[in-house]
Amino acid sequence: MVDTPIKANSTRFEYIYIASQRCECGGRYAFLKQSLLTGPPPTDRLDCRCQQCGRERAFDFDISSFFGQLDKYGRFEETDRAFRKALEHLKAGKWTDAEQGFLRVIDPDEGEPNFGLALFYLGGLYLNLNQPDRAYEYLARAADIQPLEPACHQLLAFACQSTGRPDEARRHLTTMLKLEKRFGPAEEHG
Ligand SMILES: [Zn+2]
Repeated sequence: MVDTPIKANSTRFEYIYIASQRCECGGRYAFLKQSLLTGPPPTDRLDCRCQQCGRERAFDFDISSFFGQLDKYGRFEETDRAFRKALEHLKAGKWTDAEQGFLRVIDPDEGEPNFGLALFYLGGLYLNLNQPDRAYEYLARAADIQPLEPACHQLLAFACQSTGRPDEARRHLTTMLKLEKRFGPAEEHG
């Protein structure tokens, strides 16, 4: 199964992304091999196999933002640093610093816009700050990237409830319960 290429701004992020994904059976993926498709857009294909059921899946990443630009290959370091710092701020209750940090992490050019965990934390932060519209925007993106994570659907359901989307809230709660039933009790997200 191959989907639309996922925008990545660094090679390292491709592996972070795969580590955040689950197979339909709930298992995590092991990396098999990498190949470059010339495109357009230039695409990095990572073939993976589920460690639990053995099903194979290819992940395609759109690498046009850094392909051939050697100076940009290491730029995930900065994004990773920003992510860790933002988490520290979050734990310390420094909401504004945490918000700025996560926004930096998911910046479409400087960061990684498909960083599911950062989108999840940012959405959760906006729920805490009573900004449900923003929470909805980021949690919807997080759930889109990690559709098999019960925690994403749970927070998104809260955001739906607070933004006048009762039907959508119910849908996400149902999804959350189904996923928990399939995969067992929700594992700590992150
Ligand atoms: Zn599997």
